[in-house]
Amino acid sequence: MPASRSTPRVAVVGGGPAGLIAAEVLAAAGVAVDLYDAMPSVGRKFLLAGVGGMNITHSEPNEPFFARYGARREALAPLLADFDGPALRDWVHGLGIETFVGSSGRVFPTEMKAAPLLRAWLARLRASGVAIHVRHRWLGWDEAGALRFATPDGEKAVKADATLLALGGASWAKLGSDGAWVKTLAERGVAVAPLAPANCGFDVGWSEHFSTRFAGAPLKAVAAACGDEPLKRGECVVTASGVEGSLVYALSARLRDAIAAHGRATLTLDLAPERSAEWVAAEVAHPRGSRSIASHLQSRLGLKGVKVGLLWEVLGKDGMHDPARVAAAIKALPVTLVAPRPIDEAISSAGGVAFEALDANLMVKALPGVFCAGEMLDWEAPTGGYLLTACFATGRAAARGVLAWLAEAPAAQPKPRSARKKPA
Ligand SMILES: Cc1cc2nc3c(=O)[nH]c(=O)nc-3n(C[C@H](O)[C@H](O)[C@H](O)COP(=O)(O)OP(=O)(O)OC[C@H]3O[C@@H](n4cnc5c(N)ncnc54)[C@H](O)[C@@H]3O)c2cc1C
Repeated sequence: MPASRSTPRVAVVGGGPAGLIAAEVLAAAGVAVDLYDAMPSVGRKFLLAGVGGMNITHSEPNEPFFARYGARREALAPLLADFDGPALRDWVHGLGIETFVGSSGRVFPTEMKAAPLLRAWLARLRASGVAIHVRHRWLGWDEAGALRFATPDGEKAVKADATLLALGGASWAKLGSDGAWVKTLAERGVAVAPLAPANCGFDVGWSEHFSTRFAGAPLKAVAAACGDEPLKRGECVVTASGVEGSLVYALSARLRDAIAAHGRATLTLDLAPERSAEWVAAEVAHPRGSRSIASHLQSRLGLKGVKVGLLWEVLGKDGMHDPARVAAAIKALPVTLVAPRPIDEAISSAGGVAFEALDANLMVKALPGVFCAGEMLDWEAPTGGYLLTACFATGRAAARGVLAWLAEAPAAQPKPRSARKKPA
């Protein structure tokens, strides 16, 4: 498909939230937009995110919000400031979808789902002229610099005036983002930090007995930390091989990095965060007479089920007969994590295209005219709406970068409508 010489033609590759918002910004500026996706439909991970009650963004003020991106705060803050939580909420409302703030401060679409939002959004994108090409798997570039796509009708070469890649990370590959782009970009000399699981579960290597009895058991009203750090309250779940759930996800970056550095990490669990260590020690030490340890812990401390199972699993029989160790373990149970779960199971990916490889407009310095956005960039954040917000903000920023680049490109280059001189 040759690029038109009158109107610039931009190829957006990847139809997740980052690519779709980029297509919207580009189409609004009068650019001809072709959006390509490998899958039979776009927005599959976005739809999955809506299954358990989608957090589209978070309502906290910008300063704590921006800090959620850790080491990438500085790179992302200007982009987020341009499209922050309130702006994203307004944008959602503009699609006719209402939102509400949950008790945790997370922002949800009122129906808690992504499907109505995606339907309205795609209708608006099509109406604005965005051409969506599904079953187009991007393979890289040919020798003439055209984009190569594998399609059901064979390989196609596509020439575009600019390209915006929004290919996602590498979790839930069956939904489309499989990280295959890492090799393609690395071969072109683009610095890419290795993709790693983020917001993920971990393996512990439970005993057969514990795993059989407690796999799937929720650990409610607990607090947890990575090693000696301050404890966070929340909930998680015991799995057949380890632990997962929101509290573990919140600590997952540090736990993952600790495992990478030391081969293991300690998840410290407080099984009775409402109680002081002194109170717990006094209750555990209370004479139990002929009662079993299990019934003593249940009657004096209200501990039962998986919480007591965990104490047995970590302390063993000898430890469970030592009241001082039991009391200490209730307030700070060290659970040794040996590996993060595979990236395919994670909520998101850390790593990706290094910000150092990009200019301020998210253009790949080594590949003029090629821009990147979304989860494929090297940032990570906890769950709670921060992931999608950064995908939207970087998608918009990269699209603006494309427009600026087209406007500045040599005279032969077609200009976006926004950059053309108005007729006198
Ligand atoms: C279970 C789950 C729940 C989640 N819940 C939330 C939540 O509540 N709140 C939140 O903020 N975030 C959530 N997320 C994360 C969020 O969905 C992602 O961060 C977001 O979808 C990433 O957007 P993206 O556009 O960068 O990439 P993606 O959404 O992954 O889209 C990338 C697109 O690129 C396409 N693609 C990839 N490679 C190629 C190729 N070679 N050629 C052509 N097309 C290609 C893929 O098919 C895909 O459509 C959740 C994720 C999961 C897995």
